[in-house]
Amino acid sequence: MLPGDNSRRMLAHPPDIPTMLGAIILTSLALAVSLGWTARDNRDGLRTWTQALCLTAGGCLMHALRGTIPDWAPILLGNALLSLSLSLGLRAACRFHGVQENPWAAFLPPCILVVGLALLMDDFRYRVVLASLVNLVQVGLIARQLLLGRYDFPTRGRNMLLASGAFDILLAVGRCWGAIFLPHDFQTFFQPSPLQLAAYFSAFLLLIMATNGFMMMAKDRSDARLRQLAMRDRLTGCWNRVRIEEAAGQEMDRLRRYAHPACVILVDLDHFKNVNDRHGHEAGDAVLRDFAQIARECIRATDILGRWGGEEFIVILPMSDLPEALVIAERMRRCIERHIFPQGLRITISLGVAACLATDTWTDWFRRADAALYRAKAGGRNKIQIEGFDPPSLPANDSRHYVSQLVWREDYLCGEPEIDAQHRRLFEQGNALLALAGRTSPPGEILAATRALIAGTCAHFATEDRILAAAGYAGAAEHARIHRDLLARGETLLQAYGRGEIEPAQIFHFVLHDMFANHILVHDRQFSTCFAPSPLLEPAQHSSSQPLPRA
Ligand code: GH3
Ligand code: MG
Ligand code: MG
Repeated sequence: MLPGDNSRRMLAHPPDIPTMLGAIILTSLALAVSLGWTARDNRDGLRTWTQALCLTAGGCLMHALRGTIPDWAPILLGNALLSLSLSLGLRAACRFHGVQENPWAAFLPPCILVVGLALLMDDFRYRVVLASLVNLVQVGLIARQLLLGRYDFPTRGRNMLLASGAFDILLAVGRCWGAIFLPHDFQTFFQPSPLQLAAYFSAFLLLIMATNGFMMMAKDRSDARLRQLAMRDRLTGCWNRVRIEEAAGQEMDRLRRYAHPACVILVDLDHFKNVNDRHGHEAGDAVLRDFAQIARECIRATDILGRWGGEEFIVILPMSDLPEALVIAERMRRCIERHIFPQGLRITISLGVAACLATDTWTDWFRRADAALYRAKAGGRNKIQIEGFDPPSLPANDSRHYVSQLVWREDYLCGEPEIDAQHRRLFEQGNALLALAGRTSPPGEILAATRALIAGTCAHFATEDRILAAAGYAGAAEHARIHRDLLARGETLLQAYGRGEIEPAQIFHFVLHDMFANHILVHDRQFSTCFAPSPLLEPAQHSSSQPLPRA
């Protein structure tokens, strides 16, 4: 038989209404059994949905038995069962969202329907109109509940339910319209008119779509909960390593792609073993919980707090440079120092801060924070250390204007004497500018210091480009391009600052992050292999690489 023959036969001999009702009954029951079997409890309202499916099957059975039972049974009982199944649908949606259902909204529509149908016993068309209108209201109430619910998981299941609701509303409107304007199609219940057939086919699809939507909602929420559990530390509620590493990866990508800075703070509770030894493990647990709560209050909503292990915590600070990270680290240090923990305990914390560099792997970045934390511990605890920079103590009351100073280290030497000498001079000029950030400096002073730094940088870049090209460095052209970009950006910022369009913080950030942390300490280290160690670099002569005197 040709494929077209089947559809032609279908059109010539459409399925009769009792067959369609039979299909709907069997599908409802099959869905109810499989859902009831697999739903472990009714927290998601799935069991209530199962009951709704059973009522749908009951309502359709009543309609299928028309002619063999008295007319009032399918009209009153059948429609009441179908309407009650929607009431249970509303209850299931409320249960899913953990809200109390409004009994009036759930059970008034079926009551109105039954009374109305009893009054319209003799008019099939108006009964269709009434049933469709009540159906429309009930589906609208379910959709409203679904739209009002809170979703912290994908909403595809909810959307499928809404789509089936919209489909049902269209169907109800179509049936009303048909009953009013195509009365011939609605003269008898079992007449398989195209409109009736479309309505039953649609009801069949709707049942499957809605049940799938409900199951998907429950599954997505359960997946999201499992994901949360898998990423949270049980004692403190902080994120665990899995999430922290994921967040760190995202920040490293953002830095490389958009040059958005990011910092990490590693925190370790000082002498925590003593807390356990003297006050017991439970007191130790309470301190850890309290610490996490205080730390959460000290960070911003976008920062990510994790428990790295034991009494070690970690904060990832997206879109933050070192000065910002230091303000947060200091806030944490002070809050913990002042807090009185359960049993009157007082503790302190040590913190290591590191900015992410464009060439970092997570291991590099973390290692620098860990090294800083180690120095904070070695320096007497209750301290903050930054890897790569030496933080002066913060002003007592206002740390908003705090900016660190650059510290020259011997491992910043690249081995080319002229470049190294110029880098040192730039560090000095950079510090002269950064020192202006610690007080309320007149814009003219900041402008002059920035101009001097950019002029010095311009001369230095020209020298460096010349030396790298002469040394045959393979990345010389790319390096020269980075120089041009940096100078152009510096010039733009300078002009914008001169016009009063930007805050000085943007200039300081550019100097600290873009020029020094990212360029001189990262890009420039890539060409150090080009130069043979010069006699000037012998360890005995490194005494000059002490921290520069503060400007
Ligand atoms: P330091 O200042 O050098 O960091 O000293 P410390 O005593 O804090 O460090 P140490 O590494 O010696 O001890 C850490 C202690 O943290 C030991 C361990 O019993 C305790 N600890 C780790 N995880 C938990 C926990 O979940 N609950 C409790 N109560 N204690 C924990
Ligand atoms: Mg400790
Ligand atoms: Mg520790």
